Amino acid sequence: MAIKLSELLKEDLRTQYAIRAKIETGLSVGAAGVGSTLADKPVVKDGRDRFIIPGSHLKGRLRHECEKLARALGKTVCESPRAELMCPQHNSRKDEERAIDIRKGIRADFPDEYGQIRDEVLKTAHLFCAVCRLFGNPEKQSVLLISDLVWEKAVPVETIRNRVAINRRRSTAEDKKLFFIETAPVGGELDFTGTLTVSRALTTEEKKMLVAAFAQIHALGGGKTGGAGWLRVICEGLI
Ligand SMILES: [Zn+2]
Repeated sequence: MAIKLSELLKEDLRTQYAIRAKIETGLSVGAAGVGSTLADKPVVKDGRDRFIIPGSHLKGRLRHECEKLARALGKTVCESPRAELMCPQHNSRKDEERAIDIRKGIRADFPDEYGQIRDEVLKTAHLFCAVCRLFGNPEKQSVLLISDLVWEKAVPVETIRNRVAINRRRSTAEDKKLFFIETAPVGGELDFTGTLTVSRALTTEEKKMLVAAFAQIHALGGGKTGGAGWLRVICEGLI
């Protein structure tokens, strides 16, 4: 997606919020199956040899949680990640009726908080759902920028060491895929910090949705098998 120079110059309109993620390091070695250990969690190392949670990964999860929340509240959101089903297309070429339904839903949900912009947007055919308005899509630049979350503290080598993931089929080390592995009882928390940058003022409704979505993230990556509560993410100062 092309980045316009005018967008880069709008630095003064941007607001930054601190993001803090706490990872519980589990109870003890041998507690296999408990599911609350650090082993095999997608924390990677960046070019400066720091342990990070990639911002793109966190943003993907945040979008997913926002979609779930919006749907639970009865709002109409498009069907990411397939570009042809996302705003403003809604697969209108193949299923015009469904596309009309989605546009009707988005119009009905469009918040009053947008004031004058609301009327302008509703007049155009390019309607974007509540999630695309924040996270963007192939047609629209995202309002949100999430940095990598970094664990700045020195790695306690005696308790946690890392290993390179081995691709079993190819028997080769997978590039940059590092996983923590626990080697001793720890039971503490690791603090990762980063920033959320927003490029326009958020509505109260958007702030509430983001706060709730951050609170819903308990795991990243292979989160389906991860024990609940091993990861907590908060964004400070949003509300
Ligand atoms: Zn959308």
